[in-house]
Amino acid sequence: MAAAQEVILSGIRPTGRLHYGNYFGALRHFLRLQEEGKRCYYFVADYHALTTITEPTDIYGQTIEMLRTYVACGLDPRASVIYRQSDLPCTAELSLLLGMITNIGFLERGTTYKDKMTKLQEDPRAEGNPLSFGLLGYPVLMAADILIVRADKVPVGDDQRQHVEMAMDIAQRFNSRFGETLHVPQAVGRDALRLPGLDGAAKMGKSEHNTLDLLDDPKTVLKKLKGVPTTTDPEPLDTDSNDPDVVVPKMPPGVGVLYRLLSLVAPEEVYLDFLERYRKGEKFYGDLKKTLAGHVSEFNTPIIERYNAPDNTPAAVEEFLRENARRVTPVALETVESCRAAMGIGHSLYRA
Ligand code: ATP
Ligand code: MG
Repeated sequence: MAAAQEVILSGIRPTGRLHYGNYFGALRHFLRLQEEGKRCYYFVADYHALTTITEPTDIYGQTIEMLRTYVACGLDPRASVIYRQSDLPCTAELSLLLGMITNIGFLERGTTYKDKMTKLQEDPRAEGNPLSFGLLGYPVLMAADILIVRADKVPVGDDQRQHVEMAMDIAQRFNSRFGETLHVPQAVGRDALRLPGLDGAAKMGKSEHNTLDLLDDPKTVLKKLKGVPTTTDPEPLDTDSNDPDVVVPKMPPGVGVLYRLLSLVAPEEVYLDFLERYRKGEKFYGDLKKTLAGHVSEFNTPIIERYNAPDNTPAAVEEFLRENARRVTPVALETVESCRAAMGIGHSLYRA
């Protein structure tokens, strides 16, 4: 008998435009796995976007724009099942069921929640705990996203590693309490990427406003790269390795992001050449920024062209969203129904 086809699932929040962290941390793996013929589920996490907004935001519009960018990058809605999280509302039902077996203490150890709590505790004006139930429960909803399609692998950046581990824990807890029902996904590989921000912060992020965006035109790219803080002179690297995983963390943060990007978009010899100049302690940051800007623009010009292609319209996106919501729903309902039965409330007798 042939081995079962590997199932892949991953999502991105429609909280802004896609950036190079999203591309190299997640999207490029989406593309590779799609090309390998895996069963791929890629969704836009619009429910998740609601965990951090504080005012009405056009999440729908941002969803459509993000999906036009997916298509421009080469994701194919006929090969991969590309859908909107909120078009699969039984995810919310599974999240509710999983919430019943998830301790609050476990959720309070989630890094996103913990970081926000620490900031609050340092803020003398903060009163009580204003963080939402939705934010605390984010890992439960993410577990539901993953478990509902019985995913084997979850291609995400390093910042999401802990959330995938929490999903594994939740699935194991469910199975040990109610019998083998949920498929436990694999942990995120050690090689997952975390691209630093243009401001030198540890992570580039849509919500951090420190991004180089996938659709930035050459002028914007150059302007943003020129603004990267590189005041520190090169210091000895204390390693002979040329591997960006080893080298980048040893550099001043702003310089690190430039080298990491160079290693991702430029030919290897260009990266190695600039690394040698770093080791020699030359002053070359202006040259590095200009060269990098050139390679970034070479990389994304075809993406921008495809993004603007006449057939890449919001209407086309809506059409494939409808079609793909239909493709994923039976798989998802089967999981939800099996969880209901395992927990003892029985199969649903009616669904709208
Ligand atoms: P937000 O700030 O709204 O959370 P984000 O930029 O962190 O947005 P997400 O939608 O949370 O993006 O994450 C989408 C995918 O991109 C995830 O797989 C995440 O791990 C990956 N990702 C996000 N930022 C980076 C980064 N700086 N480096 C590598 N991968 C990243
Ligand atoms: Mg994020």
